[in-house]
Amino acid sequence: DPLGPTVCVGEILVEIVATTVGEGFLKAQPLVGPFASGAPAIFISQCGRLGGKAAMVGAVGDDDFGRVNTDRLKRDGVDVSTISIDPDYPTGSAFVRYRKDGSRDFVYNIAKSAAARFGWSQTVADLINRSGHLHVMGSALSVASARAVIDRAVDIVKARGGTLSVDPNIRKELKLDEDTEHRFSELVAAADLLLPSGEELGRAAGVEGEADATRRLFEMGVKEIVLKRGAEGATYFGSQGDRIDAPAFVVEEVDPTGAGDCFGGAYLTCRRLGMSPQQALTYASAAGARNVTVLGPMEGAGTRQELDAFIASTERRR
Ligand code: ATP
Ligand code: MG
Repeated sequence: DPLGPTVCVGEILVEIVATTVGEGFLKAQPLVGPFASGAPAIFISQCGRLGGKAAMVGAVGDDDFGRVNTDRLKRDGVDVSTISIDPDYPTGSAFVRYRKDGSRDFVYNIAKSAAARFGWSQTVADLINRSGHLHVMGSALSVASARAVIDRAVDIVKARGGTLSVDPNIRKELKLDEDTEHRFSELVAAADLLLPSGEELGRAAGVEGEADATRRLFEMGVKEIVLKRGAEGATYFGSQGDRIDAPAFVVEEVDPTGAGDCFGGAYLTCRRLGMSPQQALTYASAAGARNVTVLGPMEGAGTRQELDAFIASTERRR
């Protein structure tokens, strides 16, 4: 990609997972972790693993939780020179426990951790000035530090002829303030690639129903939409009314966290490497499915070789 690396901006965390299913953290219990995490970090990890040029903007603390993340991303081939190390605040963290019904209890330390303490700097400006793609997680828009970087980066990347992808990643019930909601719509309209999951499609479009929502989004200016449906697979929509359904691979789900981020990182990277939507969709579906077979939010992100082996050896649903 002559235009330069894919950049993702946002929270970098460790995740610590309860090994038993149940309610919350009121009792002492076995835990496993720290695992490298944070939706933007998972996305960029998958980009790097697939051989795309990739860089991450964010912050960690000067502690082992931070090093778990920077070491991991470096190994994946991600440029970590724009991850700053906060001398005063610890790395962000999320403790998670699954309940019987599949829902989750969390204890977060994000807003008051290093994860939320970074901003525009000369190093960040130098990166953005040579980058070819920006990926935005909708959830990052309500974090002031990430928002400040994204707002400046979008214009620069677009002005260079670079591209933008947006994963709404906002639960339907979550109310954004008016300003953030407006900014979200602007970013959606500017997206070359939109990666909603489930009901986020209707939310991003402002109208319900797959056909109406996709039509409205193309009218707004979106170029390409890939809808994620978990174990039900995924669908590509092109602006000319073309559509490709990708059945999910049949896997045993060990840990669903990170599937959408790996899927998005793989899809975007394959497209930037010149693959067709069909081929990118196959790699993305494999990346999402493979990731849920491994404990830890990005532990199952695959290299090209690993995904090829996975695709060759795994059945797909009909
Ligand atoms: P999250 O935000 O939790 O990371 P998401 O809702 O954004 O996830 P999903 O739809 O859960 O994204 O997953 C993305 C893709 O990964 C799916 O479209 C599918 O191709 C693949 N995938 C996810 N879960 C499974 C599964 N249990 N079995 C097979 N494939 C899966
Ligand atoms: Mg998602």
